[in-house]
Amino acid sequence: MARIVSRGITKSYPLPHGTGRQVALQSVNLEVEDGEFVCLLGPSGCGKTTLLNIVSGLDGEYEGDLSFVRSGALVASTERPRIGYVFQEARLLPWLTVWQNLRFVLDRGNLSESQLGQRIAQWIERVGLAGFENYYPGQLSVGMQQRVGLARALIIEPEVLLMDEPLSALDELTAMRMRDELVRLWMERACTVLFVTHNPLEAVYLADRVVVMTSSPGQIVAELRVNELLSRPRDLEDARVWALSRKAVQLLENAVAKKAIDG
Ligand code: ADP
Ligand code: MG
Repeated sequence: MARIVSRGITKSYPLPHGTGRQVALQSVNLEVEDGEFVCLLGPSGCGKTTLLNIVSGLDGEYEGDLSFVRSGALVASTERPRIGYVFQEARLLPWLTVWQNLRFVLDRGNLSESQLGQRIAQWIERVGLAGFENYYPGQLSVGMQQRVGLARALIIEPEVLLMDEPLSALDELTAMRMRDELVRLWMERACTVLFVTHNPLEAVYLADRVVVMTSSPGQIVAELRVNELLSRPRDLEDARVWALSRKAVQLLENAVAKKAIDG
């Protein structure tokens, strides 16, 4: 497991036409503890994906410091913890089957091909896709594709799991089922999770801690320590979940209004 430490992360993009740059993130300080499940809640366009891309290492062009701490020791900047990333759309390789998509991300290491095969079979089973090993992504529903995306991120046994609105393309019933599966898998394996969402109820239902961002340029302005108020497993019928979700909505509204006032 690893702790994520980001300090003063600022990121701007060149504007499409002409000169100037648009600031997408402004001095973002965020720490995610070892094994903690943090939901980053913010309006569309506030820089959530930008932040995940930076944390994942996909985007190396930013100001500020990003580091990882493992067992109390700073991870060398030349090294990275093992990171799993689940995107908003599954982004599977369309010419590979479910089985092959999972095999693709696995390093052989010192495992035999049959041990790898067993691991793949286990993950296919865990995400409820037994029987679909030889299907191509185009032959699966969006929800099933997202399950493959989740298995692909988890099969590498990540120390850090990044998730970018992974359930927002699903119908609400499927999303509800997958939230429970996600929590179950996380509780079994405990990795550090940074989960991005614009959905306050989802954030409260999933997170140990909800961190709230303003609209663009994204800044972190509030947090809600859900785990101090709710134990697990949680129940969507629980009135406290709804009360906290209303609180999260308020924090989000304040964050957006603050931006409107501050300019
Ligand atoms: P979110 O994920 O919260 O919806 P994003 O991180 O995708 O927000 O985007 C934040 C801001 O940065 C938006 O205004 C968006 O238009 C801009 N942006 C994102 N990616 C790029 C890019 N590759 N080039 C230019 N601008 C971008
Ligand atoms: Mg996004």
